[in-house]
Amino acid sequence: MFAGIWGSYMRIKQNVAQVLCCLFCIVVVGMFLGCSANNEDSTSTANDRTKTYSWKMVTTWPKNLPALGVAPERFASMVETMSDGRLNVKVYAAGELVGAMEVFDSVSSGAAEMGHGAAYYWTGKAPAAALFTTVPFGMNAQEMNAWLSYGGGLELWRELYEPFDLIPFVCGNSGVQMAGWFNVEINSLEDLKGLKMRIPGLGAEVMKRAGAAPQLLPAVEIFTSLQTGVIDATEWVGPYNDLTLGLYQIAKYYYYPGWHEPNAAIELIVNRSAFEQLPTDLQKIVEVAASAINQDMLNEFTARNNAALQTLLNEHGVELRPLPDEVVNRLREISAEILDEVAANDPLSKRIVESYKQFHHEVRQWSAISEEAYFNVRE
Ligand code: CA
Repeated sequence: MFAGIWGSYMRIKQNVAQVLCCLFCIVVVGMFLGCSANNEDSTSTANDRTKTYSWKMVTTWPKNLPALGVAPERFASMVETMSDGRLNVKVYAAGELVGAMEVFDSVSSGAAEMGHGAAYYWTGKAPAAALFTTVPFGMNAQEMNAWLSYGGGLELWRELYEPFDLIPFVCGNSGVQMAGWFNVEINSLEDLKGLKMRIPGLGAEVMKRAGAAPQLLPAVEIFTSLQTGVIDATEWVGPYNDLTLGLYQIAKYYYYPGWHEPNAAIELIVNRSAFEQLPTDLQKIVEVAASAINQDMLNEFTARNNAALQTLLNEHGVELRPLPDEVVNRLREISAEILDEVAANDPLSKRIVESYKQFHHEVRQWSAISEEAYFNVRE
């Protein structure tokens, strides 16, 4: 009898233990699920890989302008493919949504999530922005990319744009440009006096000090301005781009070298809060696509400039001329002064200029015995 009672007691004890164990498991699993739900709430946007994003990209370029205007379209297509349609970017040419010179403000305010243009258009916002496009007599595309990637340049650029709620990426490069199109011959420094020329960035400041009257005009206004005499000269990019703008129709002389733009880094700007709302994989896709387009644009200009130059010379009778040494030498002197003046603006400008100059000083020592030495010996 005792054994029967003891057996019943043990069975009840086991059942109670099983029930308690189950209850404990349910509570633990419930707590875990509760925590998971809370975590998902707090980071739902960053982790949601089913959500699709439709963004606007405003640009400073005419619709489908070779290389510069095509690059943002290629970027958008690449991002859409890489993200499997989760990030869709609609590209707007200059004037479609906002004017070319309103791109910075549009992205800064968040009206558009992205912009494609050039930092030297925004020196009115931050004078040192010019250095993130090009510096007269400064680094070429290869050296510029090296500074941005491995010389601290990109970090400084991001610091400069931070107060504007913008994240910059390098997203294109023209390579060395041409000095520009002139309606008059440039035989001496005297010929620069009073010359009305479209030229942006630090090159504009240099020309001003050399006696010219520089103006900043977007591509869409250049042809008419030159045709109607608002300007006497203009620089744009190089043969491949300039041929499309038709500048040969209204200016006879095509001067080189592009002292004012030994490279032009093209920028992708992204509104900070929009970028931070993207899941991390889409953020990476934006970064990688910008980098791919950066190289692609330089490749395209390098591949196509000469054929366009031959068309300009042989079919349109353009006169190709080098700038006189006297002019180039004086412009080089002024460029050094201008750079020092940018550094004097504020502490961040000083750090940017010092970083650029130091990197340029170092990288050119290698360039001198590599690219430059090689160019001088190849047949
Ligand atoms: Ca240019």
